[in-house]
Amino acid sequence: MFFYILHNMELLKQRILEDGKCYPGGILKVDSFINHQMDPDLMCRIGEEFARLYADSGINKIVTIEASGIAPAIMAGAAMHLPVVFVKKKQPKTMENMLATVVHSFTKDRDYTVCISADFLTSTDRILFIDDFLAYGNAAMGIIDLARQAGATIAGFGFIIEKAFQGGGEMLRSQGYRVDSLARVASLDNCQITLL
Ligand code: 5GP
Repeated sequence: MFFYILHNMELLKQRILEDGKCYPGGILKVDSFINHQMDPDLMCRIGEEFARLYADSGINKIVTIEASGIAPAIMAGAAMHLPVVFVKKKQPKTMENMLATVVHSFTKDRDYTVCISADFLTSTDRILFIDDFLAYGNAAMGIIDLARQAGATIAGFGFIIEKAFQGGGEMLRSQGYRVDSLARVASLDNCQITLL
């Protein structure tokens, strides 16, 4: 079992090194296998790894944010047989009873209001938040605020890739949150991907 899991995440790391592309400003592009074209086999293994990590955490729900978090979250939800709810980046006309907060987008460099129905995030929920990337932790801070409004508990944060040099992981861990990142990037300097 241990070797099987290790192999899975080694596969992810290899793939990042082979197919990931660096862009100026500390952006890593993984759109050939994670967030545009997607590799369902790899995504399935990512979901299984989150399920393994959170098997004994008592979570009853997985929360993510559209669009790139949905694929890993749904795979984890399928592996754990738990519902998955995604935070929306546009306020739907028909959604009443809504919780909203403002998130700063790192990749688009703008603020936007995100929302989730209070029907799907409540004080009885103990959640795992999953996203593709952790950079500065802005999306995560938005989730913390939404959970606070709902009275929900956050059991942990799961990311496919953490860019450790941008500080979001340190910020969340220093606040006492559990953070699990399947691959951690130490640096993207000189267009070179260095993993931890
Ligand atoms: P944070 O909110 O932690 O500052 O940034 C995470 C969010 O921004 C994620 O939802 C992710 O979609 C996006 N993001 C941050 N850094 C990168 C990156 O290097 N590459 C890509 N593709 N998305 C990123």
